[in-house]
Formats: sequence, C-alpha cells, structure tokens
Amino acid sequence: MTIRAVLFDKDGTLLDFDATFGPAAHAVLDDLCTGDAATMADLAEIAGYDLATRRFSRDSIIFANATGDYAPFLAERLGIACDAALISRIDRLLEENSVRHAATLPGAEALLTDLAAANILTACITNDTESCARAQLATVGIDTHLKDVIGYDTGHGWKPDPGQINAFAQMNGLAPREIAFVGDSLHDMRAAKAAGVLAIGVTTGMHERAVLAEHADHVVEELGEVLGVVGVE
Ligand SMILES: [Mg+2]
Repeated sequence: MTIRAVLFDKDGTLLDFDATFGPAAHAVLDDLCTGDAATMADLAEIAGYDLATRRFSRDSIIFANATGDYAPFLAERLGIACDAALISRIDRLLEENSVRHAATLPGAEALLTDLAAANILTACITNDTESCARAQLATVGIDTHLKDVIGYDTGHGWKPDPGQINAFAQMNGLAPREIAFVGDSLHDMRAAKAAGVLAIGVTTGMHERAVLAEHADHVVEELGEVLGVVGVE
C-alpha cells in the first residue's frame, strides 16, 4: 500500500526543542516561583531543566508530554492546586516566550517540500497546544506545507493515545496503512502503533536508535531518510 500522508511530531522532530523552548522554560519557572531561587532550582530539577544552560535533559518530563501531564509535579512542589488556570498560565507563558525562538531541525523544510512534490499530505501531531504549535511553525515558515496541526487541546486527546492520528485519517479519508508517523519519543511510537500506522522513529530528539528500535517499524538518523522509508526517491 502506498503511503499518502506523513504525520510529524513537532518537538525534537521538526523543531529543535532546546532552541525553541529553552528560554521559555526559564520564563515559566521564574513566573511560577516569583523569583525565589531555591524553589526555582527545585522546579528545574523536577522538570529536567538546566537553569544555567537553559537546556533540557533527554528524559525531561516536559519533552514529550502535554502540560496537564507534568504540571501536577510542579504544582505539588509549589503547594498550589493543579487546576485549569495553572495549566493555561503555563501554556500562555510557553507560547509567549517560545514562538520567536522557534528553530527547525536540519532537513525539515526540504523533507516537507519533497513530500508535497510527491503529492503526499503532511501534518503536525503534537502534545503542545495547537495555537503555540501553529505560531512556532509559522515563525520558521513551514506552516504552509502542513495540511493540519493537531494539538493536545484540539479535541482528539493526546499522545500516546492515537486519537489525533485517527482524527487526521478520518478527516482525510485515509486508511491507517496509508499513513506514516515520524517522531522522536516513545509516546509517538506508541500512538502510531495504536493507530495502526507506520511508526518511524528519528534520533534527533529524546532517544537513541536502540531505544526507538524496540518500538518503531523504522528508525532514521535524519529527516531526509524518511523519503526512502515511505517510498519517495
Ligand atoms: Mg517530540
């Protein structure tokens, strides 16, 4: 069966996570702690974030999760309720402070261009908010290639559940076997497998080949290799 759509995770797959969110995470922690250095250090440790280098550890809880997945851990340390107001406050701060720093990973734009030339649909399936994702993708100029952007708050659930992929398939009249999903996290691979689509792991983000290989149908080291995997030469 021919692949007719290739779906992409955003952070660590299309976009450089550290470059895009490094400064924004600092702004979020600073805001949540109202400048208290000891609390900020604790939150940074919980988040898997280095305050000095403004980079994330590969196993950071922020890397592949939706805000609602990791906010409870920050709220617990702060002694505050993890409610909708806290989650929307974090999402707003992340968007305000990340969009201007958005940066693609090598080969992202070329791959989207080549897939479009081969009449293959592309879309972004992310655990970020839809509005933040759309703004970042517009900043780096690749939004125009994408048929859709589906975030954790779009209304189809979020990874590792397959709802976002299933929704894209349904909206575009595609069978799972006509779709490939490219991502850097195990959430991505689990969502792809649950949806029954081709799972392609890429080593530009969270995990090395050996970790992804246990869960993926294919593992690539760089985005350009995806063309060969989906049969575009
Ligand atoms: Mg990712």
